[in-house]
Amino acid sequence: MNEQKKVLSKKKGKKRKQMSAGLTVFLTVFLICFMIAVVTGAGIVLTVFNDLGFIGAGSIEDDVAGVDYIDLDEYIANQSQTTIVYAYDEKGKEVEIARLHGSENRMWVDLNEVCKYLKDAFVAVEDKRFFDHDGVDWIRSIGGVIKSGFSEGGSTITQQLIKNLTGENQATFARKYKEIKNALKLEQHFDKDEILEAYLNTIYLDMGCYGVKTGAEYYFGKDVSELTLMESAILASITQKPRKNNPMINYDENRNRAVYCLDTMLSEGMISQEEYDEAIAEEVVFKGVHSNTSEKDDEAEVSATTTEYQSYYVDYVIDCVIDDLMAQYGYSETEAWTQVFYGGLRIYTAVDMDVQEEMEDVYYNRITFPDSDDDENPIQSAMVILDYEGRLVGIMGQLGKKTGNRVLNIAADSFRQPGSCIKPLSCYAPAIELDYYYWSSYLPNFGIYLKKMGSTWPTNYGGNPGDIEDLRTLQQALAPSLNTIPARIVDTLSPSRSYFFLRDVFKLSTLTQADADYAPMAIGAMTKGVKALDMAAAYVVFGSQGMYYEPWCYYKVTNASGTKTILETEREGEQVLSAGTADVMNHMMQTVVTSSGGTGRSYSVKGFDSFAKSGTTSDNKDKWFIGGTPYYVCAAWVGFEDNTEINTKKYGQNPAGKVYKEVMNRIHEDLDKKKFEYSDESVRRSYCTATGLLASSSCKDKATGWYKIDNLPTRCKQCSGS
Ligand SMILES: [Zn+2]
Repeated sequence: MNEQKKVLSKKKGKKRKQMSAGLTVFLTVFLICFMIAVVTGAGIVLTVFNDLGFIGAGSIEDDVAGVDYIDLDEYIANQSQTTIVYAYDEKGKEVEIARLHGSENRMWVDLNEVCKYLKDAFVAVEDKRFFDHDGVDWIRSIGGVIKSGFSEGGSTITQQLIKNLTGENQATFARKYKEIKNALKLEQHFDKDEILEAYLNTIYLDMGCYGVKTGAEYYFGKDVSELTLMESAILASITQKPRKNNPMINYDENRNRAVYCLDTMLSEGMISQEEYDEAIAEEVVFKGVHSNTSEKDDEAEVSATTTEYQSYYVDYVIDCVIDDLMAQYGYSETEAWTQVFYGGLRIYTAVDMDVQEEMEDVYYNRITFPDSDDDENPIQSAMVILDYEGRLVGIMGQLGKKTGNRVLNIAADSFRQPGSCIKPLSCYAPAIELDYYYWSSYLPNFGIYLKKMGSTWPTNYGGNPGDIEDLRTLQQALAPSLNTIPARIVDTLSPSRSYFFLRDVFKLSTLTQADADYAPMAIGAMTKGVKALDMAAAYVVFGSQGMYYEPWCYYKVTNASGTKTILETEREGEQVLSAGTADVMNHMMQTVVTSSGGTGRSYSVKGFDSFAKSGTTSDNKDKWFIGGTPYYVCAAWVGFEDNTEINTKKYGQNPAGKVYKEVMNRIHEDLDKKKFEYSDESVRRSYCTATGLLASSSCKDKATGWYKIDNLPTRCKQCSGS
């Protein structure tokens, strides 16, 4: 494998400087002054001269956007570009769990493996004087400044490489000034081929393609050595504005630029008229597939028992850091990605290594799942475990051995139908929070008449319509997962109010406006579906006295030396539900596991109280089990990627419950005993089973429920005297 440091190794011996140092300094100063004259006032002139050493000692670093100059030599030579990912062990000691750099993503390609057309196309379209200038194209720079200020200013390939390596891309005078200095410096130490090679390997080509190798594979299904002239021009035309110039999305935009690229190649004498004509006439076929090279598959096979690939946790952290860098610093995706893979970051993750390892053992080895499965379409599963402050302690994106880095993570990225797991969020919690009902409110186990269906809807599991005479308390409806009573609750609340709870209280991120309807709200038949990660975060509320925490997976991200904190997680919760409601829900959902008719009866966690809810879609395409102990909330999902129906004879009634129980038992085995903590906003009371009201001494049959102190039922008077 080619290492970046090899490619960017310091140039030995020969100096390719054509311009004298004096002339360079003169031009720099001239250009800077010119820029200042055009764009800013004269005040900065002094600081620039100061920095260039014309005026005494000192530096303008503090003025320059508060960022230190990047010493590119050191940056490349001492491997500081490798990002290191840490976890903390049980003693709080830092442990390295992954190293990230570009070459590990198998995309680095030597310049001599890149076809000449592609090299020429990039030079033609991005920087036609590349082989003649000293890192800065003075003519273009000045022209660019006149035209558009510092936003474009005619960046050379060398300058673009610096941008890619440093991630700095604000259109400011200060950045431009630094970039010019760094570009001149870079060209003193590396030759043109080395710079071009680094450039071609670090550019973004949309659709997650970084570097020309992945780009050629994605768009054309070809190696970079095999591209035609037209394909080369198309690829080279993407990088300026990756999404806008993506040929599969905006063909015309790309085509215009590709033709401009060919025109330039022709006028620069890189290609003949015959080659040009042939390219223009070529019918290009786009593949649009991220290739899984056979080489990769072989390696996965060989190393099936080792940790060849980083964990799903590290995959997820990378995504989060990229997102957060974009949000906080205004980076493009390319720039954020470059920071992560070349920026020498230190990422301190929040993973609980013991939890993650148990999950990996269960998932990689398919424990609780049948040994043999259809290789073409194996059953899938995903799992998320959070603590009660939203810390992501473990995550599994798929079932079976991991086949690559940053592969599909179903737990974080896939939308799946939640089925009955939606009911606590859309029906029961809102009903209690808004004081429509309490634990022992009796409702008929029978559907409601829906005008648009022209019939009574819904039936319970297995098509059982229930009975209008059959009255059940909320708890008695929740534990066996009736469909009828949730539909009645949604009817009382209104679907839009249920929707509001999902969106603004439990913060599900994948809702659509069409979800504000009966079927989505009552039985979880959503338009798009939900993410396991969102569901786990929502269920945390039931064990945290009503606090919601956005899931987080790292403590902080620093620069290589640790002197600068780049990102830090704020772990502030938000009171989204009253503590009393959360307590009542917690107790009610414990009966899913403890009561005789509860759907989670087989899936208790040994030695600990737990609350839970199972979820099945009516067509058996998704199986869920989401529950919490005093330590953790775990959301487990099972299904097929292509939505094949789950054969319960083969996989069991609820395979999600089985894998949930296996993992939860393992990770609780050595934990100290602990109980849920409840607020003083909820109380336990006995109620009269004839009326659902608080039991009086004359009530004959009594049961126990949990109530919000500010919404207690009245005392039963109907039983007196009987
Ligand atoms: Zn009574």
